[in-house]
This record gives sequence, structure tokens and C-alpha cells, in this order.
Amino acid sequence: MRGVMTASASKVRVRVAPSPTGDPHVGTAYQALFNLAFARQHDGQFILRIEDTDQARSTRESEQMILDSLRWLGLTWDEGPDVSGPHAPYRQSERLPIYKEHVDRLLADGHAYRCYCTKERLEAMRAEHRDQKLFPGYDRHCRDIARDDSDERFVVRMKIPIEGQSVMHDVLRGDIRKDWASIDDQIVMKSDGFPTYHLANVVDDHLMEISHVIRGEEWINSVPKHLKLYEYFGWEPPVFCHLPLLRNNDANKSKLSKRKNPTSINYYRRAGFLPEAIVNFMGMMGWTRAEGEEKFSLAEFIENFDIEKLSLSGPVFDVDKLRWLNARYIREDYDGPALLKLLQDWALGADYLGKIVPLAQPRLETLADWGFLTAFFFADRVPIQADDLILKGKEPADLVRVLQMAIWLFEALPNFSEGAIEGVLRSLSEKLDIKLRDLTRPFYVALTGSKASTPLFGSMALLGLDLTRVRLRQAVELLGGLSAKKTKALEKEYRAIFGEE
Ligand code: GLU
Repeated sequence: MRGVMTASASKVRVRVAPSPTGDPHVGTAYQALFNLAFARQHDGQFILRIEDTDQARSTRESEQMILDSLRWLGLTWDEGPDVSGPHAPYRQSERLPIYKEHVDRLLADGHAYRCYCTKERLEAMRAEHRDQKLFPGYDRHCRDIARDDSDERFVVRMKIPIEGQSVMHDVLRGDIRKDWASIDDQIVMKSDGFPTYHLANVVDDHLMEISHVIRGEEWINSVPKHLKLYEYFGWEPPVFCHLPLLRNNDANKSKLSKRKNPTSINYYRRAGFLPEAIVNFMGMMGWTRAEGEEKFSLAEFIENFDIEKLSLSGPVFDVDKLRWLNARYIREDYDGPALLKLLQDWALGADYLGKIVPLAQPRLETLADWGFLTAFFFADRVPIQADDLILKGKEPADLVRVLQMAIWLFEALPNFSEGAIEGVLRSLSEKLDIKLRDLTRPFYVALTGSKASTPLFGSMALLGLDLTRVRLRQAVELLGGLSAKKTKALEKEYRAIFGEE
């Protein structure tokens, strides 16, 4: 049975807690919108917390992009790393002593233990479990051995009951039961002294007085562990509400993935979508007017949205629908001067134009060449002739491989700069034994629609990774695409050639 959202007398405090490990994801905006609406409806607070405990993958650039894109959408927060608040700091990497103190408390109370198992031992154990078709988790080797070899590397694991069931309540799904036997002794602190998501998330939700956890469905399986932590600490857990995942608009409504749809808010911004259209579109995942009018403002959404009535069937992220809505905002909400201002803020301002000028200058015979030469800087996808997508002496399938490998290499770059882009193409040329001049030609075509244009590396850097990715993927599709199976095989080949690059 479904539950109710309103917690006892306590104040409503909700949060989004993105991990800054890549592009700002549309799913973060979707969660932010629903949390914000819920907070505003109850006169509560909306908090933004940065969960950057994964040292290897978290970056400040990603964090900044998340803050910028949510602010651009108008989904602003009351407390967060940039605005502070009563529970600062709001960035987990700045709260390490708090987590340490809590892990020590679990250890002292016998709810957690140090695990000294080496990587080799864990691998051997996993292989054995696989062979014998046993539970794939940790075998609890260190659980009952009292040891404190402080100079050896260890992780801390929480104790999960061996028997019985966990019962959790989700507002949209009712009670969910899970056998403890299917749950691992979760690591709560890694050997580098950083907490894992589970520990940091629970400790912060409690200390930041979060009343309702409204987040993506993918976290539902973590709740039993979280509830156990609340119990170990003697805390009251928040109300849980797991939002259905966004779906691709494909036949089997698969989970939204960047292989099928751009998922970065940056892409939508660069491709000329309006923040109010995106917010409206996200809102439609949770509320539509009975009388069928689909255009509504954030204020209207906040007034009408009822989280308890959310349908569990995954909302479809239908980009055509978003385009349709976007067009309506452009037509209906802007007069000439306002639209001009919008265009200037988007890509026709001195800042962006000023960066194109030095790239265009060597190719201009007359000023009037500017229009066709630079049109691709002001486009989403560009018109490409499949016949122009040629890699000298190779088959189209070979070019597909090269383009896809390039996409992966670009995605792995910490910085999509001119030098780094050149490095990627040079390394592709070397490792795949293709002359750089031959290699760059199909990239020109894919990115600009023409065989020769402004200098490639600088132009790509200015276009940015989002538009570059979309256009390279468009070229891949035009050449016949890559099935999931072929992608897997190619991934293997890619790793063999480029290792962890
Ligand atoms: N850091 C998690 C994420 O990136 C937060 C999940 C949660 O909201 O608890 O989605």
C-alpha cells in the first residue's frame, strides 16, 4: 500500500545529492525539480549537497557545471556549497572528520569491523563463489576476528544481519521486503579513509535534518543498508520516495542512456533549448493538467504537483516532445527584441563570436563567406551526406570503429581542449596506422558538414564535447550504426589498444 509523504510535525527538508563525476545529468534536474516543488509546497528547505567521496572520479569542474546548469534552469537551493547554510560544509570531501567519528562509533559499538582482506584473497573468494554458485558477496572472513593491525591497510565493513528480512517503506511502492541473506557486509570506509556513499549519505541526511529522501529508483536496493545504519546510530530514518527512472523513447523503454539520447544539460543548453521549456518538460514527468494543456510554468507546477500521485511507469524522455514545447515558448513568449536578446545570450554574443573570428579569418575571402563557413557553430546537428563520410582506403564499418573510439577517447579527457583533442586524433592515427590527414577528413565532414572548414581541433574545442559527441554519433548512425553486441566487441578492442587512457 502506498504511504503518505507528510512526516510528523517536523519541518520539511529535502535535498539533491549529485556526485560530480561528469556532465550535469538531466536526471539530476528531474530530481531537483521534484524536491524543490515538494519543499516549496511545505514551506520547507531545499538543499544541494555535493557527494564527492569518490576521489578518483570527482572533479571541481563537474561540480561547477552541476551548479551552473541547475541555476540556469532556475532550480535554486536554499543551502549548498556555494551559498552555505546552518549545516555547512555541503561538500562531502570537506566533512571527512565527521564520517571518521561515525565509523569509529560503529566500530566501538560492534556494528562494524575492520576487514584486512587483500585484493587477491577477495578475487579468489569471488571466483570460488562463482564456481559454486554461492552468494557473490563478501564471505565475512574478518567479521569475527578481533584484530587491530593499525599499520596494515584495511576497510571498514558494517555488519548486516545473517538471517531475517529487512522491511522498508517507500511512499510510492508501499512495504518492500528483502532477505538480509542477499545483502553484503557493505564497506562503509575505504582504505584511503574516505567513506563510501552509503555511510556519508546516511550521516549527512541525518545531520542535515533531511525529512524526506526523494531520489532515483536506482537507490532503492541501498535502503536496507541505510536503515540498518539509522538503527545502529539510534536515529529516526527519513521518509523514502524513489522516483521512477527516466526512459529512452524506444520500443522497450530502456533506462535513459547517453548512447540513445543526449543526457547532459549542457547539450540542451548549447543546442538552443530554453530553461523554461526543459523545466516544463521535466514537470510533465510528474504532472499534467487534466484539460490537456501541456505548457505550464514552474510556479504552476509547484502549485499542482502531487508527489503521492506519481505513476510508477517510467516517464519517457521524448526529445521530440521537448522540441515541440521549446518551439511554443519561442513563438509564444518572446517578441522580436526579447528573442534577439535570447539569441545573443545563447550564441550571438561578442564572447562566442569573438572566439570564432580567429578560426574563420584565414578562410575568409570576403566577409560574406562568414555565413556558410561558420554556420556549424550555431547548429545542433549538421546536414551530412553519407557519401562524404569516407576514410581513405577503408570500409564504412572501419570508419564507424574509428569514430566510436574517438568518442570514447574524447569522453575520457579531463579537459576538452584544443591540445587534448589534437592528442587524441594523433594517437588514433598512430595506433590505427592511418595518416592524420586521411583521418581528419571524415571528422571535418561529421562536425561541420563540409570537407574543409575552419581549423579542426580549435573548432571542436569551441563546439564543446556535447555537440561534438552528438555529431560524431550522428555520423556513426549514418554509416549503419553500432549494435549493442558490436559495441561490446569494440569496447574490448578499444581497451586492448588504449588501455586505461
Ligand atoms: N550521490 C548519489 C547520486 O549521485 C545520491 C543518491 C541519493 O540521493 O541518495 O545520485
